[in-house]
Amino acid sequence: MSHDAGDRAVREEPSEAGAGAPPNLREVGRLRVLRALHETERTSRPELVRMTGLARATVTALIAELTEFGLVQEDDGPGGSETRRTGRPAQWISLVPSAAYAVGADIGHHHVRVALCDLSGTPVWHHAETREVDHAPDETLDLVAGLVDRALEETAVDRERVLGIGAGIASPVDKVTGSLGGESIMPGWLGIRPGIELARRTGMTTQIINDANAGALAERLYGAGRGTADMVYVRLSAGIGAGIVSDGRLLVGAGGLAGEIGHLPSVSDGLICRCGNRGCLETVASPPAVAQLLATSWGKHVAAAELPRLLAAGDPGTVRAVEDAGVAVGRAVASLVTLFNPELIVVGGDLAVAGELIFEPIRHGIRRYALPAVAKRVTVVPGELGDRAEVRGAAGIVLAQAPRSLAADPSALSHGQALFG
Ligand SMILES: [Zn+2]
Repeated sequence: MSHDAGDRAVREEPSEAGAGAPPNLREVGRLRVLRALHETERTSRPELVRMTGLARATVTALIAELTEFGLVQEDDGPGGSETRRTGRPAQWISLVPSAAYAVGADIGHHHVRVALCDLSGTPVWHHAETREVDHAPDETLDLVAGLVDRALEETAVDRERVLGIGAGIASPVDKVTGSLGGESIMPGWLGIRPGIELARRTGMTTQIINDANAGALAERLYGAGRGTADMVYVRLSAGIGAGIVSDGRLLVGAGGLAGEIGHLPSVSDGLICRCGNRGCLETVASPPAVAQLLATSWGKHVAAAELPRLLAAGDPGTVRAVEDAGVAVGRAVASLVTLFNPELIVVGGDLAVAGELIFEPIRHGIRRYALPAVAKRVTVVPGELGDRAEVRGAAGIVLAQAPRSLAADPSALSHGQALFG
């Protein structure tokens, strides 16, 4: 287990040299064509020649071969009929979305979400459940495995066409062993290797990724960060985390802990955080922390799930509490902005529904606390994928490897063989 997949997914130019290089030129060519097609929704033949650096005749031969295997399709594309009237047929080339699939799973502190995504990353099946996950690893993993079966049954997708499972999980993930760290983050999961457990339950290759990193990958590939090489995804949920994409690569860190913005110190004499430190951002700005603040003031239980309704009703206490949370987040984000110089901050997670109420304090925090020259160049926008960002990014780490798998054996799927154990 590693995050190389995520790295590759966002790297601009794949390298054919080095360890693991394909053994023959035809495979190299297939890989270039499949990667180019994977990076764009559809493209023209001349553009594909430019992107791959291959000869036109080679590209034509490879397209014919990949079309025969059912991996690539040609059509006239948007405006095609008009182009045809001029006597020059427009041939748009794209991957066949239904040629292969990946399962995405998103395992949060209080929810489980599973999606079956096609080769283009589009979910064709999706299901979410509220669950208490932190102390129930076995039940949670059983639930995910059951949902995978249900997804295949309800969509009639052959198991053989599924390249694997990517699971985003609300915990740091050791990039070498795939085991979960940070014992106080998900207490019941310490020492569990969810990738191995899910593979055993489903018979599918499984990769594990930290959920904020999955969200960052999804917004980078399919959402607000498309085409951006330097961005930070900030997820404001029960856990506050960030996924950092720098120069097109996801920063993971030695122990999978890079981007744990929720545990930056926010107030010096604050509450004890579940990580063991005191006054972390999460203790003042997470939805449960905001709800707790209101509960103390009102003398009754307030659930974090009630916050959107209270905000929509314009409750003054809730508005103030969320604004203050935004100020705290803004100050922490300002540090990331100064350190990583991103051009884009994408904000997702439960509190993103607060809209400008949370975005404006974040922008203000950046203007006030980040290095001015760096602050000037950064834009803060809402995520485009909502609460499906993590699940789509988790599937995305599997799909990022699809070109390599399909280039190595393009006939596997057409013969109904499983590409992966
Ligand atoms: Zn903490």
